[in-house]
Amino acid sequence: MNTTPASPAHPPAPRRTGIAWPRRLSWRLALGFGSLVGLMLLALALASLQIRAMTELTERFATQDMQRLLRVQSLSLTTEGIGNALLHLMNAPREQRVPVYADVDDRNRRIDGIIESLTNNLDELTQVQTLRRLNEARVAYHEAFIATVDEIEGDDTQAALRIYREKVMPALEQVLMESNMLINRERERVEQQMDSTQARLEQLAIWVAALSLLAVGLGVALALGTTRSVVSPLAQLEAAALRIAAGDYLQPVLATSTEEIDRVGQALTAMTGAIAAREQEIERLAFRDPLSDLPNRTFLLKQCDDRGVSTMGNAFMLFDLARLKTVNETLGFAIGDTLIGELAQRARAAVQASPAHSGALLVHLSGGKFALLLAASTRAPVEALCQQLMDAAAQPVQCGEHSVDLSLAFGLADSPIGEPLAVITLMRNAEVALSVAKQATQSLAWYNPAQEAARLSHLGLLSDLRAAVTGSQLQMWLQPKFSLQTGLAVGAEALVRWQHPKRGFISPAEFVPFAEKTGAITLITDWMLAQAMQTLAQWQHRHPELSLSVNVSTRDLQDPTFCQRVKQLMQQHAITPQQLRLEIVESGLMQDAHTSIALLHRLRELGVQLSIDDFGTGYSSLAYLQQLPVTELKIDRSFVTGIQDLPGTQRLVKTMIEMGHGMDLLVTAEGIETLAERDTLKALGCDVMQGYFGSRPLHGDALAAWFAGLEAAASHQN
Ligand code: C2E
Ligand code: MG
Ligand code: MG
Repeated sequence: MNTTPASPAHPPAPRRTGIAWPRRLSWRLALGFGSLVGLMLLALALASLQIRAMTELTERFATQDMQRLLRVQSLSLTTEGIGNALLHLMNAPREQRVPVYADVDDRNRRIDGIIESLTNNLDELTQVQTLRRLNEARVAYHEAFIATVDEIEGDDTQAALRIYREKVMPALEQVLMESNMLINRERERVEQQMDSTQARLEQLAIWVAALSLLAVGLGVALALGTTRSVVSPLAQLEAAALRIAAGDYLQPVLATSTEEIDRVGQALTAMTGAIAAREQEIERLAFRDPLSDLPNRTFLLKQCDDRGVSTMGNAFMLFDLARLKTVNETLGFAIGDTLIGELAQRARAAVQASPAHSGALLVHLSGGKFALLLAASTRAPVEALCQQLMDAAAQPVQCGEHSVDLSLAFGLADSPIGEPLAVITLMRNAEVALSVAKQATQSLAWYNPAQEAARLSHLGLLSDLRAAVTGSQLQMWLQPKFSLQTGLAVGAEALVRWQHPKRGFISPAEFVPFAEKTGAITLITDWMLAQAMQTLAQWQHRHPELSLSVNVSTRDLQDPTFCQRVKQLMQQHAITPQQLRLEIVESGLMQDAHTSIALLHRLRELGVQLSIDDFGTGYSSLAYLQQLPVTELKIDRSFVTGIQDLPGTQRLVKTMIEMGHGMDLLVTAEGIETLAERDTLKALGCDVMQGYFGSRPLHGDALAAWFAGLEAAASHQN
């Protein structure tokens, strides 16, 4: 999946040569359809103009040209009739002349009327000239006609006939000839008119056909153009959307030739950018730890899945920042976070500074736990890297006024040569090794299958443990506790020991956690309580100041009869309740806190002292402890080891002691092995010490000797 966002800028549209075609589809459609409509309108206008011209032409033809032609024809006919009328008049007796005169007058008037109307109607020059000549001939005829009529009325037929032949006839022929010329010309004109109308009609048909063809062509081009400019960019968009859906954010949505679609493309590109950024953020959140800015467990597993663990490494290192919880609870979460961040930075720098491990993958698993997957053919370079990491962590971290030490424990696992293990197996093995290292308070431990076998062998221990309680395989050892102020013994802690008939000595660190898991621990607690009561019963007459601490487990705290059993045992052995201390591991309180705390209150009401054991390794906070009816705080051994050289730890322990005192608690330091540790703890204000420096856990003769020594010390003091 590509997660780099595409550039939000839209890439330029491909350059086109030729006509600049508008990029907006709306403009293109408007232009296309506009031209189409324009073309159609033009054809329509042209057709209507031509039709109008034709109508005018036809109208003129009917009202003027045809009329004129008819008039000219009628002039010719009328003129022809006058000659005959005159001849008839010349030969007619006087009494018959009147109707003939009337006929001739009528014809003359008609001729005059026609000529007059033609005078107003003719506009062509040749016709006007012809008409003028016709008019002159008519005038000549008119004069000759008057002269002829005069002779007829004078009954001089010969003279009339002569005038008729010499003047009337030529004049009439002239009139006839001119009128025939007019007719011919008018006919010619009508014919011309007809021809031109025909030609115009044909032209119009051609124009309309051409425009229609052009419109059809334009329509087709428009349809094709529109389809192409919409369909192909849409197909481009579709392809881009499919690419985005497939997670390809690199290829930008290409610009098309259509502005509107480009805008959708730009929106798509912007959306792609936003999705890519969001995906990157999601991926960052999913695969990176925000506190340490290192890849996380999910990333490690994914990388191993994608690339194969064999190509990434065959050794797995797990390291844990000790006492992180205590730092969180006493100095605050901000300082705890600073420590994680600082450790991440130093670890990264240390790995980068080690060329042999350039391909190593450093991840932050959770809390103060980090992992490193690396390639190594032998164990030595891995251990060397552990040392480099420890060196990098050696310098305390300054958090405001606090200087806090970074203490690391390493669990290491590797694959057999040529047989790369799955990363999840390597991780689990390293976890086992880490817990072994922690239990043994070593800085590092390599995983070996025996550790696994030891774990598995616990199962077999369950039935053995029941036998151990009923048989006499268990022993109670006592480790004395001394006041740091007076140096005198203040009591002892009862520690169970198991002498297994076949396996030999089994450490409580091995079987107690297992017994807690299976519930068999209550058998041990009961046995230890009974033993402790017997011891206290012996002590209380000679050393009533001594108390005895018995470790109780989480299971005991959830047993509603526990309090009653303790009470009965105390009564049975007539023990002063103040002499009995019950040690509770702080993590135990967290499980079913309500029942546990109620039980603690009931125990406290009996007068029994309550101690918080291994303080600093679990999950409770001092503020939370304030709500508990406890009377003693036992600071875990991990804070004590080498404390004289660890100023940061000194500050932390001092805070714990001060807060403990603030809550009226007796503060005991566990695991003091050296004089320097004891002096440092004493200087920090700690009340009681327990550890090999004071005394190892004692049993049998050694215990009796110590007790006898107490007598001596007491009598010496007295
Ligand atoms: P714990 O209650 O914190 O007991 C103190 C452990 O520290 C004991 O280990 C003791 O031998 C060891 N220790 C004391 N001083 C020093 C020292 O100066 N240096 C070193 N390195 N170690 C020191 P142990 O006896 O092996 O017991 C381990 C744990 O097993 C105890 O830790 C306690 O949590 C548990 N345990 C022991 N006995 C009983 C028991 O009877 N009942 C229950 N529920 N748990 C028990
Ligand atoms: Mg204890
Ligand atoms: Mg302890």
